[in-house]
Amino acid sequence: MDVVTTIAEVRSATAAARAGGATVGFVLTMGYLHEGHVSLMAAARAECDLVAASIFVNPLQFGAGEDLDAYPRDLPRDLALAEAAGVDLVFAPSVEEMYPRPILTTVAVDDVTARFEGATRPTHFAGVATVVAKLFSIMGPGRTYFGEKDWQQVCVVRRMAADLSFPVEVVACPTRREPDGLARSSRNVYLSAEERAAAPVLHRALRHGAARIEAGERDPAAVEAAMAEVVATEPLVLLDYAAAVEADTLVSPARLEGEVRLLVAARVGTPRLLDNVGVTVPA
Ligand code: AMP
Repeated sequence: MDVVTTIAEVRSATAAARAGGATVGFVLTMGYLHEGHVSLMAAARAECDLVAASIFVNPLQFGAGEDLDAYPRDLPRDLALAEAAGVDLVFAPSVEEMYPRPILTTVAVDDVTARFEGATRPTHFAGVATVVAKLFSIMGPGRTYFGEKDWQQVCVVRRMAADLSFPVEVVACPTRREPDGLARSSRNVYLSAEERAAAPVLHRALRHGAARIEAGERDPAAVEAAMAEVVATEPLVLLDYAAAVEADTLVSPARLEGEVRLLVAARVGTPRLLDNVGVTVPA
């Protein structure tokens, strides 16, 4: 596995692979890798000739007062995990390499960013869309792998790639969970033992919402209230939103039909945790 830190080096490695006819598969991460990240790398390994991964804690997507400085980091461990997952090329740039000057050009994705994480973190998705566009431009991937865990991010990246005609297929991979249902996240390390024990309520709420739809409920407000009721059983978990929306647009429909996404976000002690599940409503 090659590990490079400059744009020039990684660009020449991916360009050489493409020139030889290889498909470049690309996984973007902020490091502190866990099984969720590794599953994206494994999916890329199964489908692409050259598997590239980035490890970069992107300051642009953190708001004032968020956990940028405290974000967990462990590059040696990340490199061992990436290598074991079959990654060929790791791009681990410094902030100065990515942003040598204050950035004047940003990518704003409207509409799909207006609610949920975008409402709570107003500059977050512009930071995400900008770094993803920049990394697509650097790496030139044919396929890129994102986790469903961050469903709104998948919607933003898909829309950005389509609107700006990046020649890349955005593949969404299933959320990897702990045995008790908690979605794996680098931020789970912030949870105290009590908070960790309470956190799986988010997945239980989503499963309850999905069960209500499967039992015939079609009113989004009723499903949302049912999920909020489950979350309310854990006093350590402070619900931010519980929503039942159209999967692609994140719009709240009058009646649930087609591909639906159930989304929850909550503060559990210090970290905000996100989770979601998909439900297909039969016609
Ligand atoms: P991050 O390092 O948190 O920016 O995440 C990098 C990529 O890994 C994103 O596409 C995430 O959606 C994905 N990811 C994070 N957690 C999980 C998980 N539990 N299961 C699957 N993918 C995940």
